[in-house]
Amino acid sequence: MTAQTLLIALVAVQFFVHALIWAMTARLARRWRAVEGHFALFWGLLAAGLALFVPPLESGSAPRNLADLLIVGASVIEHRGLTLHWGRTPRTRAYAAMMLAATAALAASFLLANGHGLRVAVVCFGCSAMMLASAGLMWRFGRVGTPLFAGVAAAGYALLATGLLVRGVQALAVGSTTKISIDATGHANIPFAIVVLFVGGLINLTHVRLVLGRVLTRLSQQATTDELTAVLNRRGLLQRLEAAHAAARQGKVGYALMMVDVDHFKAINDKHGHARGDQVLKSVAAGLCAALRGNDFVGRWGGEEFCVLLPGTQLADAQQLAERVGARVAASAAGVPVTVSIGVAEHGAADTELEAVIRRADDALYRAKAAGRNRVIVAACAA
Ligand code: GH3
Ligand code: MG
Ligand code: MG
Repeated sequence: MTAQTLLIALVAVQFFVHALIWAMTARLARRWRAVEGHFALFWGLLAAGLALFVPPLESGSAPRNLADLLIVGASVIEHRGLTLHWGRTPRTRAYAAMMLAATAALAASFLLANGHGLRVAVVCFGCSAMMLASAGLMWRFGRVGTPLFAGVAAAGYALLATGLLVRGVQALAVGSTTKISIDATGHANIPFAIVVLFVGGLINLTHVRLVLGRVLTRLSQQATTDELTAVLNRRGLLQRLEAAHAAARQGKVGYALMMVDVDHFKAINDKHGHARGDQVLKSVAAGLCAALRGNDFVGRWGGEEFCVLLPGTQLADAQQLAERVGARVAASAAGVPVTVSIGVAEHGAADTELEAVIRRADDALYRAKAAGRNRVIVAACAA
């Protein structure tokens, strides 16, 4: 196997990997410029690579045959990725049929002795057709989202498709194509091929890293956000509480806590219905957020109970904030009269465990309920 054949096979593998990554991540990366930029970059590189690599075709070698198959398969897969990226439902049967037809045509061309020109034509026409289809997709759907990317990519595709078409016709007419040896004097093909492989691989890796990073961020956001009210959920708030508690234990900065519970919420549900109850919970959460400062954290502790972390806040200030919260929530409750009871506690030097502070705030809330609701009770500081 010559260096040229090996490099062509490697570039084809890389193209195939790119198409797979693109198709698998297309939905996640929809309308995302960074990823579209990566796509365009890869294509620029590949187009330059193909311009140099497609000419030197030799028939009959296994890596070369494999490369042909990979390139045709990759074009089909990439087209599917684009369909997904633009939010269209891919026609699986049509793609399966295209893939089968391309593979069958290639296989048939391999069987022909001296089928050099025909093989070139099959690969070129197959890829050209897919690329024209991709250019059409880009142009139709991409313009709506990211016109620059869509325009550049569609033009690139169309250019490459035309080049391939010309090559296919040429190959059929001549029966063979001009051979340019990859290591011929005067051609910087081998260093260039290595650059294509290296940079292309890098682009593929960054693409995966970008998409994975975004997925992980989204997952962790979802895992710590309450779906109904969009404030933190219990897990999310606990993470913040643990961090605040650790900082306070190190003597850095203290914190106070508020436990907020909607009064007679069951009656609100019974009277206005569960859906309206949900609305009330949303507006209570919004009222809490509006009443607090930038570095306070609100979380839904469970049901109709919220917990608020107030970093760097002392008891007297926390009490003032709690009074403000009560008024704010009452004012914002979606047409339904709502009051809340609030228990406030502050981290003290004797609080080795976070649970102790939470328990004091909970006890204070319980006392606010027992004392008639719609009020703030402040827990005495521990030691
Ligand atoms: P109290 O003043 O003592 O707190 O009385 P309450 O009625 O608010 O408290 P209770 O614990 O008896 O009832 C809480 C109700 O909250 C019962 C439950 O059905 C309702 N609830 C819990 N989660 C949700 C929710 O996500 N949506 C709605 N609409 N209701 C909820
Ligand atoms: Mg309640
Ligand atoms: Mg409750």
